[in-house]
Amino acid sequence: MSEITDKYQAVIGLEIHAQLLTASKAYSSDSTEFGGMPNTNVSVVTLGHPGTLPRVNRAVVDSAIKLGLACGCKIRQVNEYARKNYFYADLPKGYQITQDTTPICNGGTIEITLENGEKKSINITRIHMEEDAGKSMHDQDPFDTLVDLNRAGVALLEVVSEPEIRSAEEAYSYVTEVRKLLRYLEICDGNMEEGSMRCDANISVMLKGATKFGNRVEVKNMNSIRNVQRAIRFEIDRQIAEIEAGGEISQDTRSFDASNGSTFVMRSKEMANDYRYFPEPDLPPILIDEKWIAEIKATMPPLPNELHKKFTENFGLSDYDAGVLTESKPVALYFNELTSETKNYKAASNWVTGDIKSYLNEYAVHMEDFPVTPKSIAALIALIDEGKVSHSAASQTVFPEMCKDLSSSPLQIAQKLDLIQESDAGQMEEWVATALAAYPDKVEEYRAGKKGVLGLFMGEVMKLSKGKADPKLANQLVRKKLEE
Ligand code: ADP
Ligand code: MG
Repeated sequence: MSEITDKYQAVIGLEIHAQLLTASKAYSSDSTEFGGMPNTNVSVVTLGHPGTLPRVNRAVVDSAIKLGLACGCKIRQVNEYARKNYFYADLPKGYQITQDTTPICNGGTIEITLENGEKKSINITRIHMEEDAGKSMHDQDPFDTLVDLNRAGVALLEVVSEPEIRSAEEAYSYVTEVRKLLRYLEICDGNMEEGSMRCDANISVMLKGATKFGNRVEVKNMNSIRNVQRAIRFEIDRQIAEIEAGGEISQDTRSFDASNGSTFVMRSKEMANDYRYFPEPDLPPILIDEKWIAEIKATMPPLPNELHKKFTENFGLSDYDAGVLTESKPVALYFNELTSETKNYKAASNWVTGDIKSYLNEYAVHMEDFPVTPKSIAALIALIDEGKVSHSAASQTVFPEMCKDLSSSPLQIAQKLDLIQESDAGQMEEWVATALAAYPDKVEEYRAGKKGVLGLFMGEVMKLSKGKADPKLANQLVRKKLEE
């Protein structure tokens, strides 16, 4: 199979719908609050009653500009709205207000990381503003389909990529990067499981070296990034098998079945909707001037790729560490703050990606709610660097205590728990002398060349000091005395 697969090149373009976190809907003042009783966030505008008029929610435009700027898109000045017409029970107006020929953003890129660590830029075709439909529920009642219109009219941004993605793994990375941006910008929670971010994958295959793309299939209903990858893998194999068997790819819309990782036909091209787009007569175009864009620019948070660059170039961290640190904005910002309190960046990175992340996982705490300040973590790092506390005591005892006792400094905690390492030379000499005196025969063995007995003396010094001897200093002194 793999020899046959090797003859083909997959071509993928993704459409991502991001549900915006605006307080009210895209074209009405109805609340967007999730989880309310069905059909409670619905005014006459959402219900599409005759004589009602939509109005543009400025926060939706702000969000679109933010995402556009983050991706390096060109922001359109004159934004027209269009009607996309189709009939469905969860679409009371009979059309969605969207943008057709004048999307708010064009151009721009998403940078993905390939499996070999290299970067690749995927061009964005367009980002446009639109509204969601309501929800039809087919599994709540044994006889009827129920409709909840709370979601009808909630604002969406649709991000459409160029067909430049070449594998399921690249698609995985692309969706991950888009979600990361949405979350950094705090415009969408990116939760695919709950449907607040959705991804449709357009997939085709062609012989390697071909210039004309094959017929594409659009796959919907993947509720996680992992499932986007699974659906694409399945679809590539299915299309190749179909072509190899002498068949043709029909341009269908398919649905992903997560239970067995396959896709099945939802509707064929013949059944495709003709949306009869036309300009929305009830909304004047929105004009975006330089001032508006500048205002949004001023509110932009640091972006993941900027922080990644800073962490690798200024702080000398590895690509991998910087990647882990920038996965989520609160973690990246915590680390960033920590680096203004300590210059030991590698240790800072290890604490954040190690002990702190484990603590968050263990106690199901969000980074935002982590109780210990970056300043305190920096103080703990300093204690270790000064040799006052061993790394293992810091990690196993001082750090957990710091998470409970927020009013004491790491030094106070280490003192209270009797964990300050002894680096006092006089005291150290005494322990070393006692240790050596306890095993005169082993001292002779060492001097005769059996260097392995060093560990015995180190263990003895640690025992005598009750673990408080600074291991580095103790080691130096034991060697010195043995070699005298
Ligand atoms: P539609 O509105 O019918 O979904 P679009 O022109 O908006 O069509 O394209 C949707 C997506 O399909 C885009 O992401 C585009 O990159 C992708 N695409 C177009 N042609 C192909 C193809 N032959 N193979 C894979 N993806 C494709
Ligand atoms: Mg499409």
